[in-house]
Amino acid sequence: RRPLIAIDGPAGAGKSTVARAVAAQLHLLYLDTGAMYRAITWLALQRGIPLDDAEQLTQLAAQTQLSLKSGNSSVEPTRIWANGEEITQAIRSPEVTRWVSQVSAVPGVRQELVKRQRSMGRDGGAVLEGRDIGTHVFPDAELKVFLTASVEERAQRRQHQLQAQGQQVALEELEAQIQQRDRRDSERTISPLRPAPDAILIDTDHLSQSEVQDKIVMLYQQ
Ligand code: C5P
Repeated sequence: RRPLIAIDGPAGAGKSTVARAVAAQLHLLYLDTGAMYRAITWLALQRGIPLDDAEQLTQLAAQTQLSLKSGNSSVEPTRIWANGEEITQAIRSPEVTRWVSQVSAVPGVRQELVKRQRSMGRDGGAVLEGRDIGTHVFPDAELKVFLTASVEERAQRRQHQLQAQGQQVALEELEAQIQQRDRRDSERTISPLRPAPDAILIDTDHLSQSEVQDKIVMLYQQ
């Protein structure tokens, strides 16, 4: 198997941008596992499945055909289809963002998606981004990175992103949303958000995106 890089961390720590850039630079595949949890959440909302119905959510995950295609450049996001329908934009809605941690806490949903993630990464040569890649999906990954940043910094970054899309959201509101998602992701009983014991922690508060990228590439090449 070729090497794998696991990039985990809380919401808004800049994982996606960095993971995509590292993958492009090292000619590795990029897998956005959050997009898969978002896809199941979007479908559940769409179909009116109660988000506390673990059985129905598990069934939904098992029966949904997902395909992912990472962008051709380091800036294009992953495109994703559920049962043939493209939902690339839809899974980024505030509603999906608000509910996704509830759906991702369902053990049956995780089992199903982790199985697919392991199968997609089994030949190696990939950067996998998520919350539990280093602890659970690929605990034997060659390089495990855990990105962190203060909640203030993460809310500010999100605010800039939203501003670029013409949306104004108050900083306090973004901080509250980020904290709530982190709390749910860290407090769930199955593969909670936390660094693997052998993960390298990078605090990105005072680092630019390219500095974080350089660090990871350097660690990979060591
Ligand atoms: O990374 P992103 O913000 O798109 O992830 C959305 C949500 O999906 C996370 O808040 C978390 O609830 C869930 N997730 C997860 N395990 C992963 C990736 C994402 O539980 N490996």
